[in-house]
Amino acid sequence: MTTDREPLSSVLETIGRTPLVRVHASPDEVPVYAKVESFNPGASVKDRIGKYMLERMLEEGTLPEGGTVVEPTAGNTGIGIAVAAGQLGVDAVFVVPERFSVEKQQLMRALGATVVNTPTEKGMDGAIRRAHDIADDLDDAVVPQQFSNPLNAEAHYETTGPEIYEALDDEVGAVVIGCGTAGTLMGVARYARERNEDTYVVAVEPEGSLYSRLEGEDVEEADYKTEGIGTHNLETNELFDDSLVDEIVQIADRDTHAEVKRLASEEGHLVASSSAAASLAARGVAERIRDGEVDAPHDTVVTIFPDSSERYLSKGIYRDFESWEG
Ligand code: PMP
Repeated sequence: MTTDREPLSSVLETIGRTPLVRVHASPDEVPVYAKVESFNPGASVKDRIGKYMLERMLEEGTLPEGGTVVEPTAGNTGIGIAVAAGQLGVDAVFVVPERFSVEKQQLMRALGATVVNTPTEKGMDGAIRRAHDIADDLDDAVVPQQFSNPLNAEAHYETTGPEIYEALDDEVGAVVIGCGTAGTLMGVARYARERNEDTYVVAVEPEGSLYSRLEGEDVEEADYKTEGIGTHNLETNELFDDSLVDEIVQIADRDTHAEVKRLASEEGHLVASSSAAASLAARGVAERIRDGEVDAPHDTVVTIFPDSSERYLSKGIYRDFESWEG
């Protein structure tokens, strides 16, 4: 979304400046605000990195003009990169594990990209390896690699972080953000800690994911249905910097699913599972600030709603928990 009333020159100018909306509103609570990233043109937080990474790589010459980007992605990054690639004269190929939503793959193709599927059981690692093989066979091809590319976090340091602080007149007590690549959290957290080194920073992952092991927690690895956050391989997720994080919170799929439904029916937010997990974690932190269990420099919690539920209707996101395919 943009607040500009002037006509804009391309869809790229509509990326960012998304609304920050109060959620869980009740008068005597510590307020929780969510940045609603489905207002971006590709309908997710990843439009920010698509635009930022491609523009920077073209400027720096690491991506030649008219070249190709090959990216392993669960989908939203593909859509974000495809939106930018189309406008910047770059070809895009995406390597997507089969289990991820078909809506996202259709949108990537509609935006002019090529989609290559890899077997679900090979996970994101399989997709990463395949992306490198494809790029090796093409001239002028680059793998931006959101899992290790510092430009991913930098996009949020330069845009998402400053937008949050501007909207709240610097009064940010805690940031509570879901971690897939951890780009969103790391960019916002670095910006937040520069503004106030006492800002309380919380990473959110589904139960079954492994980020908590970085904090010495003996968590068990398991499959989870929540899409877009969590990791099964700490080695490929190179962006996560433990020194910027106070706490890692795990949310169970069953609670997340109930929250997806509650956010729609009670608050009018058609958001998906990663938003719901972040919402629950943020409310928990707000309650602990209110009860004096967490020290935060302000009585305000900020979270991110990365994308919308419409992208997951075919997986039964609004059906009962058992038939939600995740
Ligand atoms: N939610 C969804 C739906 C996503 O697609 C992603 C990206 N994997 C995230 C959350 C997490 O964002 P990040 O990669 O910046 O940690």
